[in-house]
Amino acid sequence: MIPSLNVIFPKNLNEALSLLSDNSDSSKIIAGGTDIIPGLNQELNRFKEIKNLIDVNQIPELKGIIRSKEKISIGAAETFSDILQNDTVRELFPLLWKAASGVGSVQIRNRATIAGNFVNNAPCADSVPALLIYNATLEIESLSSKKEISLNEFLSAPYRTKLNRDEIVTKINIPFADKNFTGEFFKLGRRRAVAISRITLALLVDWRDSVINEIRIASGAVTPIGARFFELEKYCSGKKADDQFKKDLSRKLAEQIIKVTGLRWSSEYKLPVVQQVCYQMLKNIESQHEYGI
Ligand SMILES: Cc1cc2nc3c(=O)[nH]c(=O)nc-3n(C[C@H](O)[C@H](O)[C@H](O)COP(=O)(O)OP(=O)(O)OC[C@H]3O[C@@H](n4cnc5c(N)ncnc54)[C@H](O)[C@@H]3O)c2cc1C
Repeated sequence: MIPSLNVIFPKNLNEALSLLSDNSDSSKIIAGGTDIIPGLNQELNRFKEIKNLIDVNQIPELKGIIRSKEKISIGAAETFSDILQNDTVRELFPLLWKAASGVGSVQIRNRATIAGNFVNNAPCADSVPALLIYNATLEIESLSSKKEISLNEFLSAPYRTKLNRDEIVTKINIPFADKNFTGEFFKLGRRRAVAISRITLALLVDWRDSVINEIRIASGAVTPIGARFFELEKYCSGKKADDQFKKDLSRKLAEQIIKVTGLRWSSEYKLPVVQQVCYQMLKNIESQHEYGI
């Protein structure tokens, strides 16, 4: 059962940060509430000490999607539905657009915010692999400080991040790539909608004359938290992107995943699926290159 709580609606960021700094042990930010409310209802330990919920949904500083010369800045309280309506995201960050389109259902996407997704940091958070692969950084504020760190650095363990209790994520910045990337995002769930991800993979490839110039690989759900595979990415650079390479990379990715997670009861079916999906994604990316999509 949801306990009785104070819900406070600050009008601006400064007011929210002041409220948070006064009671940081017993206060928590709430945005869409689609993780917190079910969590309170299930009496999860990580929500037990909350007495005040500080609702950031109407704070103007956390809203808006702004395109500048070198990046796009997404307000932390933008919902997945807002993101899906943005042309820059759709055209220049299609993997984020695709990840957003698979979150929950229309009702969930209308409430669920992008920051709520990665601050909660469930292994199956769908925006994480796409944001990692685009090298997203986060602007974070407290009453006395402002900083910007990469999402990769921010995520520490399942349901844990480097966010301090008196801090709020204000923006997600995604730089425009200086490469000619083509990419794919894949989500495997048990059904088509309102499905928790079992495997997510994101791939971005820049290849010229069939040689890999740069590749970025990220996973979610199949690893304890969303993760980049930097060593594997380095190994791929300069390789000829023939069929054998696609098979080798797919096998190596499955091996790396075992290294991170260890063997589990689900490995027997997940690892062959990861290999096959990775191979198919590389084939799709290749044909997008060929047809100039
Ligand atoms: C039926 C259902 C289906 C779902 N399906 C999916 C799915 O397919 N894919 C998926 O990835 N997720 C799914 N989710 C989970 C959830 O919808 C997402 O994780 C969502 O993005 C969380 O955002 P929120 O705004 O609702 O977060 P909230 O519940 O409001 O908050 C989540 C966490 O983020 C913190 N937080 C929020 N905003 C900020 C901020 N600006 N600064 C600091 N901390 C902040 C909160 O304090 C809290 O710890 C589903 C949930 C439900 C109930």
